[in-house]
Amino acid sequence: METDTEITRRKTVEASDRDMTSESVTTGGLESLPLSELVREIIRRLGDDPDREGLVRTPERVVDSMQFLTQGYGMSPQATIGDALFEEHHHNMVIVKDIEMYSLCEHHMLPFFGKVHVAYIPDGQILGLSKMARLVDLFARRLQVQERLTEEIAQSLWEVVEPQGVGVVIEAYHLCMMMRGVQKQNSFTITSAMRGAFLEDALTRDEFLRLCQSERRPLGS
Ligand code: ZN
Repeated sequence: METDTEITRRKTVEASDRDMTSESVTTGGLESLPLSELVREIIRRLGDDPDREGLVRTPERVVDSMQFLTQGYGMSPQATIGDALFEEHHHNMVIVKDIEMYSLCEHHMLPFFGKVHVAYIPDGQILGLSKMARLVDLFARRLQVQERLTEEIAQSLWEVVEPQGVGVVIEAYHLCMMMRGVQKQNSFTITSAMRGAFLEDALTRDEFLRLCQSERRPLGS
C-alpha cells in the first residue's frame, strides 16, 4: 500500500512531468496572462487536471471570488462614510457589537473570520450605524493580519469621525491555524485597538471590554 507521502511524491512527479511536456507559465510573461490562466496553472502544479469536468470553470470562479474578497483595495474610508456623519450632541459611548468579519490572512491567503466590536464616544458628530460594517468590510476585504485590521478600523474612525475616543475588538478564527500548522480548532485570537478616551481612561476602556464579553453565542447562530 502506498503511504500518503508516496502518493504525494508520485503526484509531484506526475505534475512536474506535465510541466515539461506542455506549455507552462514562464516568469517572463506572467503579467500579461489572465488571472484565470494562473489559477489553471496552480491547479495543474498541485497535481490535478484543470480540464476535467469539475474543474473546467473553476479558474473563472476563483478569479471572481478572489476579486470579491479583495475589493477593499482602492476604497477609502472617507468615500465609504461619505455624508453619513450627523451633527449630534451625544456624549455617551456608542457600541456596535458582533459585526461579522471575513478576511484573508496575508501569510497563507486562507480565511480568518469572526466578530468585530466597535465603540466610540462622539464629539459633536455621530456616524450612521451601517457605516461601521462598511468600514469593517473595507479593511477586511484585503490581504490582512488581524492586528493591522483592528488598528486600521480604529484609526479610520478616529480620523474621519474625530470622536473623543475609539475602541475596536476583534475575535477571530484562523483557518491557517485550524486546517494546517498547529491544527488548533478551538482557539480564537483576540486583538484590540484603542484611541483617545479609551486609551487614557481605564473606566471607559473597562466598560467597553466588559460589554464586548457579555453573552458569547456560537458562530452562525
Ligand atoms: Zn495565515
